[in-house]
Amino acid sequence: MRAYDFAAPRSLRSALDKADADSAYLAGGTTLVDLMKLDVMTPSRVVDINRLPLHGVRLDRQGLHIGALDRMSDVADHPLVRTRYPVISRALELSASPQLRNMASIGGNLLQRTRCGYFRDLSTPCNKREPGSGCSALDGQNRTHAVLGGSDACVATHPGDLAVALIALDTVVHLYGSGGARDVPLADFYLLPGRTPHLENTLRPGELVTGITVPALRWAADSTYVKVRDRASYEFALASAAVALDVRGRTIVEARVAVGGVGTRPWRLRQVEQALAGRPLAAATYETAAGHAADGARPLRHNAFKIPLLRRTLVRALTELGDAR
Ligand SMILES: Cc1cc2nc3c(=O)[nH]c(=O)nc-3n(C[C@H](O)[C@H](O)[C@H](O)COP(=O)(O)OP(=O)(O)OC[C@H]3O[C@@H](n4cnc5c(N)ncnc54)[C@H](O)[C@@H]3O)c2cc1C
Ligand code: SF4
Repeated sequence: MRAYDFAAPRSLRSALDKADADSAYLAGGTTLVDLMKLDVMTPSRVVDINRLPLHGVRLDRQGLHIGALDRMSDVADHPLVRTRYPVISRALELSASPQLRNMASIGGNLLQRTRCGYFRDLSTPCNKREPGSGCSALDGQNRTHAVLGGSDACVATHPGDLAVALIALDTVVHLYGSGGARDVPLADFYLLPGRTPHLENTLRPGELVTGITVPALRWAADSTYVKVRDRASYEFALASAAVALDVRGRTIVEARVAVGGVGTRPWRLRQVEQALAGRPLAAATYETAAGHAADGARPLRHNAFKIPLLRRTLVRALTELGDAR
């Protein structure tokens, strides 16, 4: 690891003052320190934000508010989250390991970098790490890579679970930078790789994530997250599905669906939502709707299996919710 300056400010203003184009914010450090050890991230200054007032889970008429520095384990365990937004609890509980969840923050989770092995290996070309150098995954080992949203420059998946649940629920992310505070729908926050895969989100230089708001949605209580992975725990998703259903009688009135492990960003499935609306809670409905899950998918040499896996993962999530009624 290279030498770096260190600062631990106590206010948002002084955090911004300490940060320059070459610095990095430190929350839990579970992504940042890893990447610094590998020389993939080489900030000249680390700004520890743990003393900033960015904590607190609360519910009001607007919805559920969560601070950027709340820990993954605290949010997963919070009674309001567990009862009103179980899809968020599930997504967090199925992420990483208990030790990591105790350390890692909500803001850091949303900003974690891809797990593409080439991105972490300095001896291989990677457009995300070094723009213009090439993409080793396109013709290399791409079993875990994206089938949705990839480009000729990058096919890395967004690895997070939480963002999938949050995008299904139309979450807004709160940001604070030199121009003041601003809010961005999480769905607009993440960028497709296109020709500039090193630009992963719309965060401006020095800007901080201060928290998120998940809009009030009564029927988010009927929600779940299903994750399929190579190991039963401590592993990233090959495919995952976040689903919330508004069911009256035995009819699905409205649905929210997003998937992970398959896209270059957390992937909302509007076409599946439309296929579910107005249909009965039944296996045939789930199968038909899930048939649209991989619309537009472009498999690579080693990951075509993700297309049927994605459909089955979605059917499992829908079945879980349907059976619970
Ligand atoms: C072995 C392992 C397994 C894992 N498995 C999973 C998994 O299954 N699912 C999953 O979702 N995640 C998984 N993770 C990722 C883990 O959840 C993230 O590393 C963690 O959430 C990052 O949070 P952090 O607070 O430690 O972030 P940090 O490492 O502190 O920061 C991450 C990045 O975000 C920036 N940052 C942090 N907070 C802010 C802020 N408020 N404003 C602006 N920038 C900020 C940092 O500068 C850095 O670039 C795994 C990690 C490991 C090491
Ligand atoms: S998929 Fe993206 S992150 Fe992986 S090697 Fe290619 S450019 Fe780099």
